[in-house]
Amino acid sequence: MAPACGRCGEARAALRRPRTGEALCRGCFAAAFEAEAHGSIAAAGLFRPGETVAVAASGGKDSAVLAHLLRLLDARHGYGLRLLLLSVDEGIAGYRDASLAAVRRARRRLALPLHVLAYQDLFGWSMDRIARHLGGRGHCTFCGVLRRQALDRGAALLGADKIATGHNADDVAETVLMNFLRGDVGRLRRCAGILTGSEGTLPRCKPLKHAYEKEIVLYAYFQGLDYFSTECVYSPNAYRGHARALLKDLEAIRPSAVADLVHSGERLAVREDIRMPTQGTCQRCGYISSQAVCKACVLLEGLNRGLPRLAIGKPSRLQKALLDEEKPETSVQEEESSQPAIQSLKTIDF
Ligand code: SF4
Ligand code: ZN
Repeated sequence: MAPACGRCGEARAALRRPRTGEALCRGCFAAAFEAEAHGSIAAAGLFRPGETVAVAASGGKDSAVLAHLLRLLDARHGYGLRLLLLSVDEGIAGYRDASLAAVRRARRRLALPLHVLAYQDLFGWSMDRIARHLGGRGHCTFCGVLRRQALDRGAALLGADKIATGHNADDVAETVLMNFLRGDVGRLRRCAGILTGSEGTLPRCKPLKHAYEKEIVLYAYFQGLDYFSTECVYSPNAYRGHARALLKDLEAIRPSAVADLVHSGERLAVREDIRMPTQGTCQRCGYISSQAVCKACVLLEGLNRGLPRLAIGKPSRLQKALLDEEKPETSVQEEESSQPAIQSLKTIDF
């Protein structure tokens, strides 16, 4: 027979917490999980009363739990937020269309407004078409750059003050590992923060930053949340997969590896003499960028020229070519661009 719950002592334990090893009943686990999320939000001062928060909703477990929790904690603790769901449709047949169906069901259950932005409308390319041009690898490089911009632009169009994403502790630990392996000091410094964002972009926060993936799955299961769990068709080629495998191996040897890596990411001292990129705006599209031409514009130009691989890597030959082509007297509006004007873009409301 299962032991008694380690907290209330009345109900039978339904699980052993992956994070602490504590045996808890369903009710005490939910209460602990919710209190910890609220603790992270309160300790970091993530939200201010009256803010509009765009919850990045992918249809997966993390964003399903995040939207549910923010709705619940907002009501319980009086955050005073205006919450809305923001989804990006990358145009991946059989994956994103099915996961967006889960977002629409969540939207009905939570009674929150939902807005969907499509890569096709924003950039003139769907991920499936990009993948056909790219061949075997590099899909996530394109997709990650475009999604970041899509979310920023969508949230700005909706008048959001902040974007909340469902990144959990395992995601952050993987990102710390990836940036470490790549020697990407700039990202390493930023990636473990609970609240990030530079001048010119909307702040992004990760309220689930300290929540273990296994606990998110358990919480979603016990709350009966509806989410889509199939992996993206392009994910087997992702570099992140290698970082995930490495993290699982580390965890098998040392169960606290996830929390240790998150902590390391927070604490890693970056040498003072390493020059950090300064933010400006892209000469082509006006989006925030540390380079004269932003990464999204470089990637899209590579696609439009039929040379998608040339755009990957930094600094790319294509980026240099683009800069050489830029004529100072030509305004951004006059540039012939493959990107539809963002101002005229409508989000789809459901
Ligand atoms: Fe995009 Fe890669 Fe994620 Fe698929 S796995 S949605 S291609 S970032
Ligand atoms: Zn740009």
